[in-house]
Amino acid sequence: MHDTDSQGNEFFKCDSCLSAWSEDRPMVEGHRGSLLCAPCLSVAYDHVVLRDAGETLPPGITCVMCLEPRKDPCWRSSARPEVFVCLRCIKQSARVLEKDPEAGWKRPGETGQPTPPGRGSDAGDDDGDDDGDDEDEAERGISDP
Ligand SMILES: [Zn+2]
Ligand SMILES: [Zn+2]
Repeated sequence: MHDTDSQGNEFFKCDSCLSAWSEDRPMVEGHRGSLLCAPCLSVAYDHVVLRDAGETLPPGITCVMCLEPRKDPCWRSSARPEVFVCLRCIKQSARVLEKDPEAGWKRPGETGQPTPPGRGSDAGDDDGDDDGDDEDEAERGISDP
């Protein structure tokens, strides 16, 4: 949601957990400025897609992202029980977030090899060999009469 009482990052808040947007909390935007943050999307994806534990929308309630009274299984926010996100929006948001290189988000589960954002494992191991040059000259300068 867009919190019109706040500014900057605080302006953008996840509809599900009310956390403000930040560098490590990318968000997907739904209709009319509704927002779902990456951590919430991970929980929703795990719950509805992987565990098949979605709930049916109660009468009169719509998905917070598409604002439609969807018939597909929906994820119910634990922080805000009145907030539901439908399966279609979960999958769509997952695709959007996965394609965003800055988000660095991976859908949970499916690959079996969780890759944390940023990898620094292939640093070369080249030490030694280039010490001495500067010190040599300095020493010569001092020891010369
Ligand atoms: Zn959230
Ligand atoms: Zn939806």
